[in-house]
Amino acid sequence: MGRVAEIGCIVGLLGWQAECGGRTVVHHLRDGQGMTDRADDFLTIPVCEAHHDRQPFGIHYRQSFRTRTKLTELDLLAATIRALELRRQIEVARLRSPE
Ligand SMILES: [Zn+2]
Ligand SMILES: [Zn+2]
Repeated sequence: MGRVAEIGCIVGLLGWQAECGGRTVVHHLRDGQGMTDRADDFLTIPVCEAHHDRQPFGIHYRQSFRTRTKLTELDLLAATIRALELRRQIEVARLRSPE
């Protein structure tokens, strides 16, 4: 899960950086749904502590988060996947360019 955390807060990346605070934690999309901890590790998104479970900005306060930002957890997951892919492409490009 290190690679996901390296992205930094995905909510901040999407334009809400002014609210960010604390270290980056990895949120699981099935947090708090009473599922066993066998859920897929790919369903994770990096968020700062403020955007994780702190009031008033945290994604754990689902309704207010969604109302305020118009972002769902699936939007955040899609952005995370895109950011991971972009990082991968940058790494590949670096390996290919002789400097
Ligand atoms: Zn944040
Ligand atoms: Zn969480």
